[in-house]
Amino acid sequence: MTNCIFCQIVQKQIKANFVYEDEEIVAFRDINPQAPVHILIIPKKHIESLNDISSEDEQLIGKIYTVAKQIAKSESTAETGFRIVVNSGPDAGQAVPHLHFHLLGGRKFSWPPG
Ligand code: 5GP
Ligand code: ZN
Repeated sequence: MTNCIFCQIVQKQIKANFVYEDEEIVAFRDINPQAPVHILIIPKKHIESLNDISSEDEQLIGKIYTVAKQIAKSESTAETGFRIVVNSGPDAGQAVPHLHFHLLGGRKFSWPPG
């Protein structure tokens, strides 16, 4: 989608600090990090939110978690702990309407979330 900020990052029209890329997925550092490690893992394909995934995306969504595991390890947060967050819709505070998985680590997180 031409007016989607994350599609523009995928297409390298907007700069980002990439930590991972393959044919289906990219991961880059969040511009406004909420933890020492804050990386966004996204499908290259424009999917607005979790409400918009279908059975044909199951392999892709599963692979995102495998990528998250690899990045957690390379960012040295696999053992200390990390959190994957997917905000979906207004009540969850989703600001960018392109499905993204926050990988947060490097500090202790509270529960329940705010
Ligand atoms: P949401 O609130 O939609 O779950 O999270 C959107 C995230 O995208 C926020 O953490 C925000 O800081 C990040 N973000 C928004 N615009 C950009 C951008 O242009 N570049 C990067 N790297 N992150 C962005
Ligand atoms: Zn998009």
